[in-house]
Amino acid sequence: MALASRNTAHVNYTQDMEHDLIVRINGTLPDLSMMGDEEKSERAAEVKKMELAANTSCSVFSKNTSDYGKKEVFHLLVDIGEGVVKNLERGTASGSESKIFGLPTAILITHSHDDHIKELPVLVNKISKPDKLNIYCTKECHDQIINKFPEFGGTHSGASFNTIKPGETFQVGPFSVTSLLAFHGENSPPGSVIYVVMTKGKKIILGWDFVSLPTSDEFLLWNPDLLILGTQTYNPHAEETGLISVTDAYLLVRRWNAKECYLVHYGGLTDFQEGKNQWFRGPTKAMTTTELQKTVESHLAVSGDSGKFKITVAKEGMIWAAKETPKYPDDEIKPIGNFIEIDGLNQYVCKIEKLNKENKLKIEIEDRINRYTLQFDRPKRDKNNDQLVYGSPEIAMLSRGPELRMELVTPSEQGKENAVLKISSFKGKKSIFRDDILINDMDAQKLKKYFQENFEKRTLEATVTKSTGKSDKGGKFNIFSKKK
Ligand SMILES: [Zn+2]
Repeated sequence: MALASRNTAHVNYTQDMEHDLIVRINGTLPDLSMMGDEEKSERAAEVKKMELAANTSCSVFSKNTSDYGKKEVFHLLVDIGEGVVKNLERGTASGSESKIFGLPTAILITHSHDDHIKELPVLVNKISKPDKLNIYCTKECHDQIINKFPEFGGTHSGASFNTIKPGETFQVGPFSVTSLLAFHGENSPPGSVIYVVMTKGKKIILGWDFVSLPTSDEFLLWNPDLLILGTQTYNPHAEETGLISVTDAYLLVRRWNAKECYLVHYGGLTDFQEGKNQWFRGPTKAMTTTELQKTVESHLAVSGDSGKFKITVAKEGMIWAAKETPKYPDDEIKPIGNFIEIDGLNQYVCKIEKLNKENKLKIEIEDRINRYTLQFDRPKRDKNNDQLVYGSPEIAMLSRGPELRMELVTPSEQGKENAVLKISSFKGKKSIFRDDILINDMDAQKLKKYFQENFEKRTLEATVTKSTGKSDKGGKFNIFSKKK
């Protein structure tokens, strides 16, 4: 089956893994019994025609070079419903070096619904003794699994359970994994979670089968390299399905600044309900993969986010590969220019623009709720500190705007800590914006260069002009706007 899509890279199983980190979609389907009738649902008809229909599951592969210089690939599987084992085997079928994609070393289980654990016994039986499959799940989920598959209760089983606590980070091979408690509707099994997997500075969110994340630490969800969301329907039907919808996914993508998102677990059956409402404008049927992709793209085009966010309806066998982050700016000679955009590692996206003609500095800081727009006159670098920039207040007839102090603090030891951009904007004693924006090494280097290119060093003369501003009493100068 050819997967023709601009987001799909064909995997040649006979070749060594080219990338350090890849994610393979092993399956995208909800419980097959919930797909509906193929005469009525085009989506069900599409699934019926699939060569290998499998429930939602992903594999995360990370390449490591061992102490002996040998390349090893760690395979971490997430969920194991119907059809997944066959799909994994297909990935290893041809070619002598195909073992790089082989069976998983470890598996993360999100919850104990059949479409997420059904083939766990099949997989465990495939692991050759004395190796054991390392299974990670919550205590509640573990008990539910033992209930369903009592054979895992004994010590002779090829399964080795590790119980995890939501919110706590644990290490699985090269991966740092954190689970987050998930509410998955009325018949949600206790102890359901989603996972955030991090390695080599990349963040992957495996987020399916949830309606809400009750205890979520949103800092953990901010700015993922890949967000995988389980969306049962297009229109919101959380109560009936226990899952979010594609329309919810649009909001989460923006809220977490997820530039690349894969949608899985779509069935669309409940969307037929909207057909009863003649005024309803959205989709009123279960769409095929192609139709759903088209609908998603037209939404992104209309909302103006098509450049910023990429949402792909995932297909079985699809591969996502982490883009290499170069250690240094791609071209050290090429100037950065007067505009730079920095994605903070915490909650902010920050745009800095030097308006050369007016000799002003514009800073836009956006988090998931607010956008702060600040503007200053005559930006200058500190006389003794190249990484410190000052901005003078804009002065109007009767008022003056805030001042700026912006300092880039880079850690003395590379890779030890994150660089921080400390932004403080204030009007007298009153703070207008003040926070630290955590940034990666690469962005810190770019920013350093940006400072050098754009700001002259502050001389004594420039400091003096600061005090010539008029009184700010009664100032209504709208320099700072906070909007929803
Ligand atoms: Zn479920």
